[in-house]
Amino acid sequence: MKYEEQILKFWKDNNIFEESIQMREGAPYFSFYDGPPFATGKPHYGHILITTIKDAVLRYKTMKGFQVPRRVGWDCHGLPVENLIEKELNIKNKKEIEELGVDKFNEYCKKSVFACVEDFEKTLERVGRWADYSNAYSTMDKEYTESVWWVLKKLWDKNLVKKDYRVSPYCPRCATTLSNFEVNQGYKEVRDRSIYVKLKLKNRDEFLLIWTTTPWTLPQNVAVAINKEEDYVCVKSINGKYILAKKRLEILNEDYEIEKEFKGEKLLKLRYEPVFGYLKNVEKAENAFQVVHGDFVGTEDGTGLVHVATMYGEDDHNIGKKYDLPFIHTVDESGNFLDFVEDYKGRYVFDTNKDIINDLKNKEVLYKEELVEHTYPFCWRCDSPLMYYAKESYYLMVTKFKEELIENNKKIHWVPSHIKEGRFGKWLQGARDWDFARNRFWGAPIPIWKCEECESMVCVGSIEELEKLKIAGDIEDLHKPYIDNVYLKCECGGKMKRTPEVFDCWFESGSMPYAEWHYPFENKELVEKTFPADFIAEGLDQTRGWFYTLHVIATALTLEDINLGKNNPAFKNVIVNGLVLDKTGRKLSKRLKNYPEVSDIFEKYGADALRYFLLSSTNIGEDYRFSEDRVKEVWRKIILSLENCFTFYNTYKKNGKETKSNNILDRWILSRLTTLNKEMVQYLDNYELTRAIRLFNDFIDDFSNWYIRRSRRRFQKPESNLELEEAEATLKFVLKEISKIMAPFIPFITEKIYHELKDDGELNSVHLCDFPELKDDLIDIKLEDEMKEAREIVNLALNERMEKGIKVRQPLAFAKIKKEIDKRLIDIIKDEINVKEILIDNNISEEVLLNFELTDELKEEGMAREIIRNIQQMRKDLGYSKNDRILVKCEGGSLSKDIKNLILEEVLAKEYIFDDDLEAKKELKVYNIPFLIGIKKVYEN
Ligand SMILES: [Zn+2]
Ligand SMILES: [Zn+2]
Repeated sequence: MKYEEQILKFWKDNNIFEESIQMREGAPYFSFYDGPPFATGKPHYGHILITTIKDAVLRYKTMKGFQVPRRVGWDCHGLPVENLIEKELNIKNKKEIEELGVDKFNEYCKKSVFACVEDFEKTLERVGRWADYSNAYSTMDKEYTESVWWVLKKLWDKNLVKKDYRVSPYCPRCATTLSNFEVNQGYKEVRDRSIYVKLKLKNRDEFLLIWTTTPWTLPQNVAVAINKEEDYVCVKSINGKYILAKKRLEILNEDYEIEKEFKGEKLLKLRYEPVFGYLKNVEKAENAFQVVHGDFVGTEDGTGLVHVATMYGEDDHNIGKKYDLPFIHTVDESGNFLDFVEDYKGRYVFDTNKDIINDLKNKEVLYKEELVEHTYPFCWRCDSPLMYYAKESYYLMVTKFKEELIENNKKIHWVPSHIKEGRFGKWLQGARDWDFARNRFWGAPIPIWKCEECESMVCVGSIEELEKLKIAGDIEDLHKPYIDNVYLKCECGGKMKRTPEVFDCWFESGSMPYAEWHYPFENKELVEKTFPADFIAEGLDQTRGWFYTLHVIATALTLEDINLGKNNPAFKNVIVNGLVLDKTGRKLSKRLKNYPEVSDIFEKYGADALRYFLLSSTNIGEDYRFSEDRVKEVWRKIILSLENCFTFYNTYKKNGKETKSNNILDRWILSRLTTLNKEMVQYLDNYELTRAIRLFNDFIDDFSNWYIRRSRRRFQKPESNLELEEAEATLKFVLKEISKIMAPFIPFITEKIYHELKDDGELNSVHLCDFPELKDDLIDIKLEDEMKEAREIVNLALNERMEKGIKVRQPLAFAKIKKEIDKRLIDIIKDEINVKEILIDNNISEEVLLNFELTDELKEEGMAREIIRNIQQMRKDLGYSKNDRILVKCEGGSLSKDIKNLILEEVLAKEYIFDDDLEAKKELKVYNIPFLIGIKKVYEN
């Protein structure tokens, strides 16, 4: 699409984007937050979708008179970048990073962050995304980090931050905890071994039956939990006596009889013999290996007896606290068994399940083994299976302000609306405390220092504060490892050392409303004026990512008014889009190559077609089915149609005078245009992009397949100058207003059309214009309805002809229609369906009824039309210009003189010839009568 490239250049050369903002100086401000993408791979259709949505809304708001600055940002920190570098350097674990040197490792990360920025900028620019790329913010900037520190300090001062020892989802490969919303991004359906294990009660010949799908946690077993309210039984089989919940008898795979039945309470405090002896002599072992109560114990699966490993399950951990059970790790931070677990020492836990099961068999404590299918969480970045792992970490106490989170969500307008109470609302209902510390390297450092003497902690909220407290180290670069050499002075006189973790990168992106402007250290007024954002847009996955962290941090900060308002969400309006899948519904994958190259699509159909497809084809929020064919169809039906309408105007325009028209077609299309304008504004002001744009599907059909087609004669053979002037003025007006109405969505073709239509003194670009607000007095709903009816009648009549096999070229005597309709529309219908007369007849049952009786006269006219069409085709094939005059030969049948003259007139022929000196000839049959026709051009001197 060459003209698109030219328009990009025009925008650039003339600073149109910059001007669109400058010219709105002093106008109301429309505030937008750009969710920073990771530029660690090439941009794909998902990025293009979201960028198109953002661009369309922001262009629209600009045309509506707002000042809309658009600053982009880049997400720089976190696991995505670290994993990329680890792969590049073939690093397998954290230890190898430390061996390489954290400074070197972070230097690699830093360099890679912008590796793909250029690709991103290029692609986004090519889509027509207007944004300020030169002034982009990066989450790794020192200023950005300082603002993130400020955020944490504010929350710290409100007692919303707590250091705690808890069980969290944990990736052993990345060796870091993950937040529960990160975990949510990586659930997979897997097949695992599940085992039933017999634990022998002390001094009794009965066994407790437990069930687990994670055999590797058994060496850390310290208790068995039951539910004291449930019914339990002791059954007897030839192999022994087992205790399990009454509701779970179905799991037994042998004959048995129930010996005893009792409430779970009876089991409490019973002692059993551990399967593995590793924890027999540890601290608090005296409390271990007993039956305890757990509210969470149910009877939906398993045996109703739950094995408790205090270090590897959240419920287990809590029970451990309640019963003062041992808290001893059997597994290190890389997921390998510790040395004292002699049988498996040094081995990766997920690789030992099979051996553990074998050992249980040898110990004769395995009751049975099964395969189960269940969902299991995997690391969203490195794909390793996650563990639940007890660890000390820092928590934002989200549960303390859950009510406010839910209240603030009520202030947000969600598109699609169901997300508000659905996906997002439910997520807020279940909000958990947020573990925001990561034991990683490439991230903003957590600004918490702890005294080596008195153990008191300080959270630093600014670089200035850090300078004041510092007794050693350099703070030029806030990244690890440098920041870890910065020591502070404690009030007690002792030395304070920084906690080694970095921020969860989601904490950083959630802080962007403040950090992108280095608030409150700079741009105080700007941030306070523009918070919360009027609008943001990202993908559905962000309901548990960026949308969530923005919301959590904004809600926490505005629990009190600190100049950012009280009880504010971070954004007022949000559009949420689905995934872009291939045409069969699979994820787009580089490996499968199930999608066309982005650049090919631009080349063949242009950015406008792609944008229109993305904005109109799927209801916002649902997943897209992407295929080249569908983009092509949009290009043909919408973009090309619009272009053809414009080309038609250009071909026939004379003087471009402005004239008010009374022609019914003109009045109709103006009414349609005004209605389109009004409805579109309604939808757009409600952020319903898809519904807004779909209005244009019908409009372009009306415009191109009806208005222009029906207006051809007025341009090609006007009955008067006035008639042409009216038609021309209307067409020009409609094209120009369409270019403005559609400019936010298809910015290229609209710019092209506007450029050629704009008069002297008008603005230089359609994107600088105001969005049209056409006057209501142009609307004539009755006329719109009647024209719609007329089109329906025409469609019905044409279908009827098709069924009968009688071509439209064959005139018919009359048609009957059922309902009265504007007389001027009757003429249009007559012409379209080629009948001599239209009669109104209330008694017919159909909308329209054609009379197919053909008189000789009608037949003759039909023949003439067939001949004319063939001659016109020959003219075209020979490349004659539309003013070239020709000579015609026509032999066969008997045509009256009037009909022969009709033919001459229609094909611009001078006269008939009788010789065979022809440039083209053709034989054809009409109503079984053979004709020979031919033409040659008249060369006049
Ligand atoms: Zn991982
Ligand atoms: Zn101290």
